[in-house]
Amino acid sequence: MTETQRTLWIRHPLACSDDAAAGGVVVQGQRIIEAVPAGHRPDAHVDEVFDASAHVLLPGLVNTHHHFYQTLTRAYSPALDKPLFPWLTSLYDVWANLDEAQLALASELAMVELLMSGCTTVADHHYVFSGALTHAIDIQVETARRLGVRATLTRGSMSLGRDDGGLPPQSVVQDETTILDDSQRLIDRYHEPGDGAMIHLALAPCSPFSVNRELMEATARLAETNGVRLHTHLAETEDETDFCRRQFGMRPLDYLDACGWLSDRTWLAHGIHFDDDEIARLGRAGTGIAHCPSSNMVLGSGLCRTLELEAAGAPVGLAVDGSASNDHSNLAEEMRQALLLGRLRYSPETLSHQTVIRWATQGSARCLGRTDIGGLAPGQQADLALFRLDEARFSGAENPLAALLLCGAHRADRVMVAGHWRVTDGMPRGIDLEALMARHDAAARRLRHAL
Ligand SMILES: [Zn+2]
Repeated sequence: MTETQRTLWIRHPLACSDDAAAGGVVVQGQRIIEAVPAGHRPDAHVDEVFDASAHVLLPGLVNTHHHFYQTLTRAYSPALDKPLFPWLTSLYDVWANLDEAQLALASELAMVELLMSGCTTVADHHYVFSGALTHAIDIQVETARRLGVRATLTRGSMSLGRDDGGLPPQSVVQDETTILDDSQRLIDRYHEPGDGAMIHLALAPCSPFSVNRELMEATARLAETNGVRLHTHLAETEDETDFCRRQFGMRPLDYLDACGWLSDRTWLAHGIHFDDDEIARLGRAGTGIAHCPSSNMVLGSGLCRTLELEAAGAPVGLAVDGSASNDHSNLAEEMRQALLLGRLRYSPETLSHQTVIRWATQGSARCLGRTDIGGLAPGQQADLALFRLDEARFSGAENPLAALLLCGAHRADRVMVAGHWRVTDGMPRGIDLEALMARHDAAARRLRHAL
């Protein structure tokens, strides 16, 4: 028997988000091969046991939207206390100076931070391609592989600069041919089709106010030809609705539909300002929504209608969004924010902690077009997050699963990706976290001072 065929039973967790796995799961290679009912032993032969009696067991959390590079502009004074459009215009000129070394550090820090919060699959939306940064996605793929994190990396784009009525400066805008050729190159080189993929490529024009219609349409065709997913920001603010009416003569969702994007190939960041008819259309199409509660609160963007979207048939996932509008990359904390923000719109009886955990796992997996992650059933990838409740904030808690959200879990004790422990004792394995933070902080200073 080879090492990869050995079986590991994560035995009798303190609590589990899936009742069918209340007795734990058995992992072999990169998969879960058995979910064990409460009080039972596995049917499978067990080579090793991990005693999880002090841990709450969840499927690895799945983050559906981020901008790793923005970890370099957290809590940046000129961007504080602003809504989306002025916030963006105060940051674009800083981001335009981003170089490859800075992006590598930003991506590593963000992925490590996500991992430590229990996240096993990360999605990033990178759309800043200045002259010094033509290989951004290549850098991110290399970093994700080195860390052993599962990733959906999106080739973002901006083609509508200030000269043409868009929001970003001309220096970070690329022409359509350059964008599409690079998109095809990246898909050919890195996209892994099929079960168990560690790297997915997706295509992601930044937003209606930073790309032109021709690029939106061509990107949809390219994604369909290659069988990859489509992603963009949509319906984040009322300003965006006004922009779409002025620029295109229609609301954001009508524009998305007109560009050939309203399908189950697409997941959208934010999805706040939809009316009832638009929610029904999104549900019929199966278009996913990456709900970003912290970012929506920081920028005062609004409240996503999550339960209506789900009821209509649209997958709802969770996301931390970029670190200049959150400003952390902690998906466990984001679950708490989603629960609390949701309670402002929905009654406590209709929005539970179980619903939010489902968004952060199965719902997010659906947004990324994956059926092999987000759960604990046999056949799923062995992506696991285990939390201990041994901090003062949890002391006295009766319901361990609810305590994760209500008491504010923010750090997983153990995280497994594809059968490999990537976090143990709350720390990323093989990473000198202090040294990484020192290099990252120095890179952030360099970027700010480049302006
Ligand atoms: Zn975003």
